[in-house]
Amino acid sequence: MHHLLLLLLPLLTSASRFPLHEPTVVMTPPDNNHTWADFDRFLHAQRGAEVPGMSELKKYFVRFGYLPTFNATNDDTIDDIYDARLAYAVSIYQTKLGLPVTGTLDSVTISSIKSPRCGLPDSAVGPGPARRFAFFDGQPRWARPAPATLTYAFSPDGVVRYLSMNDVRAVFRRAFDRWAAAIPVRFIETRDYVSADVKIGFFSGDHGDGKPFDGVLGVLAHAFSPDSGRLHLDMAETWAVDFGNEKSLVAVDLESVATHEIGHVLGLAHSSVKEAIMYPSLSPRAKKVDLRLDDVEGVQALYGSNPNFRFSSIESDTSPSGPSPSSGILDRRMGTGEVHDS
Ligand SMILES: [Zn+2]
Ligand SMILES: [Zn+2]
Repeated sequence: MHHLLLLLLPLLTSASRFPLHEPTVVMTPPDNNHTWADFDRFLHAQRGAEVPGMSELKKYFVRFGYLPTFNATNDDTIDDIYDARLAYAVSIYQTKLGLPVTGTLDSVTISSIKSPRCGLPDSAVGPGPARRFAFFDGQPRWARPAPATLTYAFSPDGVVRYLSMNDVRAVFRRAFDRWAAAIPVRFIETRDYVSADVKIGFFSGDHGDGKPFDGVLGVLAHAFSPDSGRLHLDMAETWAVDFGNEKSLVAVDLESVATHEIGHVLGLAHSSVKEAIMYPSLSPRAKKVDLRLDDVEGVQALYGSNPNFRFSSIESDTSPSGPSPSSGILDRRMGTGEVHDS
């Protein structure tokens, strides 16, 4: 099925070169669509120019927290002009994603924008000192006395048939264990989905929480800040538990995404550190499952340290007691994000 999709992609891309007039803000793109694939057309767009379809890029920046929300009832106020606000959003995006801050739509930036990613917005923008990990607004956390226990369960309905439940359970077991090694929180699987603290499921399109999934790639998953516990994976992805057995070019590593989304469940927002689990994007066929120093420092700021945790177990190029690494380009503080439990 996905091979067919790849064959169709050039057709879809050329068709969408025509100006798009979307009737509403909330769209459910056609299934099996590589969201954002045609954003290449914005490469090297010039400030002040009108570029057909640029409004789609503005909506992207609205969605992920880099432009203020437009009036939902008056969608045509979003024009195709590469204006100063969009240029500013580009530079803030580059800062937050740890890219060279050029303020232009260069190839590195376009490539990053097109990358499959988590559906949560990145931290709210604003001036201030450099920061790596981030929390949601108000720093919500699971307020239980340590050592805390959180239960998790899998939705009986939101399952993908091509994965065995045993594989899915093992993937999440490992993902939870990585976080549990760092903080004094235990995670226990329960079959009682309704009363579980963390509710995990695969869902497609509009699934009732106001954050519809978008088909193949684009947004891969999302989760909600404490103490919601909802963790949703886009059923349209080709989820892989073993790339040796899953050859699809658009396969996404379930364990990498699970580990990232559990970070949100615990209260971490997106990090600017590319190597961190909490970095917002993940390439197809990439595997990134180990917590980095940035992830550990973030989650321990919320919950304290697991007494058995050793920093030496974390791969990092910095000493835990040393100064924070500075990339030199993170010259402004990315404020904490919005609360995602709507
Ligand atoms: Zn995320
Ligand atoms: Zn959802």
